[in-house]
Amino acid sequence: MTDVIHLLPDSVANQIAAGEVVQRPASAVKELLENSIDAGADRIKLVIKDAGKTLIQVIDNGKGMTETDARMAFERHATSKIEKAEDIFTISTKGFRGEALASIAAVAQVELKSKQEEQELGTLIRIEGSKIVTQEYCNTSNGTGIEVKNLFFNIPARRNFLKSDHIELRHIIDEFERIALAHPGVHLSFINNGHELFDLPKAALRQRIVNVFGNKFNEKLVPVEEETPILKLSGFIGKPEFAKKTRGEQFFFANDRFIKNAYLHRAVCMAFEGLINHDYHPSYFLFLELDPAKIDVNIHPTKTEIKFEDEKAVHTIIRTSVKHALGQYNISPTLDFETDQRFAPTPPDPERVQRPGITVDTSFNPFDDNSSRSKKTSVYSESAESGERQSHRDWESVMNQLPDLDTEKDIQSELPVEEYFKPKDYQQIGNKYMVTLHKGSLMIIHQARAHERILYERLLETLKSQSIPSQQLLFPQNISFAPADYELLKPLLPILRETGFDIDEFGKNEVIVHGVPLILDTAELKVVLEKLLEDEKDHKALSSDDHKEKMALSMAISSAIKVGQSLSSQEMNKMVDELFACKEPSISPSGQVVIVNLSQEELDKSFN
Ligand code: ADP
Ligand code: MG
Repeated sequence: MTDVIHLLPDSVANQIAAGEVVQRPASAVKELLENSIDAGADRIKLVIKDAGKTLIQVIDNGKGMTETDARMAFERHATSKIEKAEDIFTISTKGFRGEALASIAAVAQVELKSKQEEQELGTLIRIEGSKIVTQEYCNTSNGTGIEVKNLFFNIPARRNFLKSDHIELRHIIDEFERIALAHPGVHLSFINNGHELFDLPKAALRQRIVNVFGNKFNEKLVPVEEETPILKLSGFIGKPEFAKKTRGEQFFFANDRFIKNAYLHRAVCMAFEGLINHDYHPSYFLFLELDPAKIDVNIHPTKTEIKFEDEKAVHTIIRTSVKHALGQYNISPTLDFETDQRFAPTPPDPERVQRPGITVDTSFNPFDDNSSRSKKTSVYSESAESGERQSHRDWESVMNQLPDLDTEKDIQSELPVEEYFKPKDYQQIGNKYMVTLHKGSLMIIHQARAHERILYERLLETLKSQSIPSQQLLFPQNISFAPADYELLKPLLPILRETGFDIDEFGKNEVIVHGVPLILDTAELKVVLEKLLEDEKDHKALSSDDHKEKMALSMAISSAIKVGQSLSSQEMNKMVDELFACKEPSISPSGQVVIVNLSQEELDKSFN
């Protein structure tokens, strides 16, 4: 018999390890930036070409490496940061596994120049697919510069797997922003394809946030500050009235390391409860400082998910501190429900929380001469384009005259459009589901998804049926974006023009909108653009090649009524009618279940 087990050569082992550490250019960027931070640098420059696929370069003024260390750095499990296993419990550096450089060097062509202050000459090393090809002395400044070229040059499958440049760039920007927020005391800059995306001088945290996300952030921030024996919490939360329909900026850092933790995220959301409408998202930049022994950063190779020894206590501290900060800031209800119903400012008396209605004005029809549309009709005032256009308009005007939807029963008999109005006895559960009996089954419909479906089909039909007419705005709107979002938006501009936006670049990180598609309510303009960007970030939108589908989807989702909206029985009736007139009533445009039918057999099973 022959033995079959053998040790893998280092180059192969490194390539395999690289699969975990370096998934995409952004992961290499993160590791290199973290190494520079660990080296004590206070000036770091990041240079990227072709979304990191051709070049990632990081130059720092940190402590540099000796000749031997520079060579050692590329060995697997070579680290200066820990010596024994216990050390990882007191770790204060970003890295400690000693895997990053070895992994990067296994899948790219790397050039390293490094010099320590007391050295006359620095070291230059070139390494390709784990093999050192050059090592010599060189002239270089104090600190370290690394160039990573042609990532995955030797693994075509991985290279082909990478997403389009602007998606990969987005990932890099995410990593850069996280490091920039965690280390406001470090001057960071970022050059992308020869063009400066960020230049962030040393600053206090608040100024750093503003430098990263744009000037408009300054007025939005409320400080959070709390010190307890378990942890110190500091940072900022966004004022409730600036909460957005899209997720936006949500950052947790534990000991200056960006982390994700759904449980702690919920703690923040709970503190905002009652202050913002539940489909809005608060922004936050929260820093936890705690004994490194009380957290375990070792559970995930890319180290964004960490475990806390006493998660419950951390949750409570965050929730109460954020609540406290919101209380201190003492928001007075300055927003007028009449003019903008989309925000729910802090009500003075929590008992009397008033959930603002959502004004969805998708009933607008370019071919409709009745331009004086009422915005204060029902939350579900649409279907003007449907076959029953005329009767529906009558219906709508009747609805407008109704003093209060709750009294509908008394008024029903007087309605002139009685035949249109055939209540099928819908009940609403949790302001979320519409329930009725249908052909002997119990039919349950998800209201938000149903509405998304209806809007989507209607929008798509309009978008596809013609070149989309654009409605010129009386006052062109300037909308500014965070630099990173703006980069993402730029390639979308031609698509937006195709779908009826008259939109142009305007100065730094700003667009000017002269006109919008006729079917779009201008009040929703910003929300639709933000939703579009959000979808780009989540890579959702790219699954569809069809720009019009993409637009219709973003618009439908951002303007559909949401879970939590109470509906009258007429509204439910009408919505269900329209749902069943759709081509695909049973799934939402983003692929979720809209209708569940429980037959008697299924009910029988539940009673077994
Ligand atoms: P880790 O960061 O987990 O120790 P890496 O592979 O990222 O592992 O780096 C290996 C070692 O190389 C580090 O421990 C550090 O000593 C050295 N090193 C890497 N990058 C730098 C840098 N920019 N400046 C100084 N030393 C560095
Ligand atoms: Mg490292």
